[in-house]
Amino acid sequence: MRFDVITLFPELFAPFLVCGVTRRAYEAGLVEVRLWNPRDFASGNYRRVDDRPFGGGPGMVLMAEPLTLCLESVWAERAVSGAAAVPTVLFSPVGQVLNHADVERWSASSGAVLICGRYEGLDQRFIDTFVDHQISLGDFVLSGGEIAAMALLDAVARLQPGVLNDEGSHQMDSFNLALDGLLDCPHYTRPEAWRDQLVPQALMSGNHAHIERWRREQRLALSQRQRPELIQQARLAGHLSASDEAFLADLIENPERDA
Ligand code: SAM
Repeated sequence: MRFDVITLFPELFAPFLVCGVTRRAYEAGLVEVRLWNPRDFASGNYRRVDDRPFGGGPGMVLMAEPLTLCLESVWAERAVSGAAAVPTVLFSPVGQVLNHADVERWSASSGAVLICGRYEGLDQRFIDTFVDHQISLGDFVLSGGEIAAMALLDAVARLQPGVLNDEGSHQMDSFNLALDGLLDCPHYTRPEAWRDQLVPQALMSGNHAHIERWRREQRLALSQRQRPELIQQARLAGHLSASDEAFLADLIENPERDA
């Protein structure tokens, strides 16, 4: 899988690619990342990539031509190196908000060309001509698409086989649709007593079935309180057992109860 990232700030990606999960995926060649700077495709002494918006108003807009020349170079290089043709993605607050199902799809794909906007954004004619998907990280505005690109690359990298130290760990993570799509349960580690707070008794019982039931109830209770729509989705997908439903009914009747 290969991602080509178009960014005015390729140096932002260097530390990201040499640490932790992304480094492992990158070094193992599971997720290949190439960085491209549209400034390298701009003309003139100043290699200008932006200009003022038509109609006036604040800020600058990234011009279509340097972005187009950069994108065409990406395509040409991908073709020469035998990489698959992939969709072009723009990170933008107006895009679809990224979720785990999207990440799973991208993690099983051949990759993408990821475009990081800056300033007020890109000339709309470039977007209309070349962009296949627009992805948002959420309902807030970042200064650039680089953090959004790193978020996607990180989420994709940790789903690659062999990248996490413990293969089972992402199976139990929040939003795993193959499991139940619910939020993860709380976690505890040593010491058993920390500043007058003890680890929940169930986790110290040594009884595997008891521990699993406690974790299941924590996932149900947390999801019910924080993200009730996840409970409904799990129910529709057939992921809730009769004992899950009984637990939830009791929780709704006694919302203050301690799961
Ligand atoms: N004028 C744009 C708007 O209000 O929709 C915001 C532009 S923002 C300052 C500059 C760039 O940051 C965008 O082109 C986009 O690439 C990126 N960006 C900002 N917020 C984002 C978000 N929530 N998700 C993904 N990318 C974002």
